[in-house]
Amino acid sequence: AKHEGRGFYCVYDVDMSDAYVATKQLEEDLRVAIENNDLTLVYQPVVAANGKIIGVEALSRWKHPTLGMVSPPRFIAAAEQSGSIVQLGDWVIRQACNDALAWPTLTVAANVSAMQFRRPEFAQIVKSILQETGLPPQRLELEITETAVIGNIEDAIAAINDLRKLGVQFALDDFGTGYSSLAYLRRLPFDRIKIDQSFTASIESGAEAASIVHAIVSLGRGLGMKVTAEGVETPDQQLFLRAAGVHAMQGYLFGRPMPAAEIEPAPAQTTRA
Ligand code: C2E
Ligand code: CA
Ligand code: CA
Ligand code: CA
Repeated sequence: AKHEGRGFYCVYDVDMSDAYVATKQLEEDLRVAIENNDLTLVYQPVVAANGKIIGVEALSRWKHPTLGMVSPPRFIAAAEQSGSIVQLGDWVIRQACNDALAWPTLTVAANVSAMQFRRPEFAQIVKSILQETGLPPQRLELEITETAVIGNIEDAIAAINDLRKLGVQFALDDFGTGYSSLAYLRRLPFDRIKIDQSFTASIESGAEAASIVHAIVSLGRGLGMKVTAEGVETPDQQLFLRAAGVHAMQGYLFGRPMPAAEIEPAPAQTTRA
């Protein structure tokens, strides 16, 4: 604010409008960046309980021309605010499917925002992308959060089933951070739930967090879903999670998000002559 402390203006209002202008500018810069194909994807390894790579998660990165790297939570929020998350999100799926062609043994997961998923044409768009890229549908996993399904569960189930018929897999992201998870989890045809990293982080801090992790794993197993733990940073966390029965893990212990060129899939099983 230019007039802080002078007493002529309501300082609070001036600050608000500065922040507003900055936010709108960021939204506009992002819209242009999406149009110009200026965003990039990095990929984080997903490993089985034994540490072997089984897939990757695509994560968006944006380097602003003057601000430098903008954190994903910040630019994703800006994209949701302006509506450009829909273009961004479709680009992510297309780019991830293209990149995944280089890793025949791996699944590729893409994050899908609520606004993107709720469009009636979402399933059709994913089908077109699969056709255009030629990625086998079984190798694509879509991660959605409960926000995407709350309020229109019937439509959500229909869209998920439409794509699951082709083999596309669905994961419920950030499980445990919402509030109404249990009520609808039973009805939703997810292949996988992802335990939020906040639970992984608190495993060593006490018995409660540990029993929550045990409860989520047995819930997932009971519903026939696989369970992935996120944010695994230490060997002790890996040991605990493996003993608890999680199917897969992700975290800095196994690999940070990295450019596509650095992903090294396990070699395909070869049959001996
Ligand atoms: P998320 O989907 O839960 O992704 C996991 C986040 O945790 C990523 O942050 C990843 O870099 C970070 N992470 C991975 N392993 C560790 C670890 O061991 N320790 C810690 N502390 N963090 C770890 P990132 O890339 O900053 O993304 C943050 C969030 O932004 C994502 O959370 C997701 O909600 C959103 N996001 C990122 N890319 C996209 C996208 O393309 N589309 C949509 N809709 N959302 C995205
Ligand atoms: Ca995710
Ligand atoms: Ca997550
Ligand atoms: Ca998260």
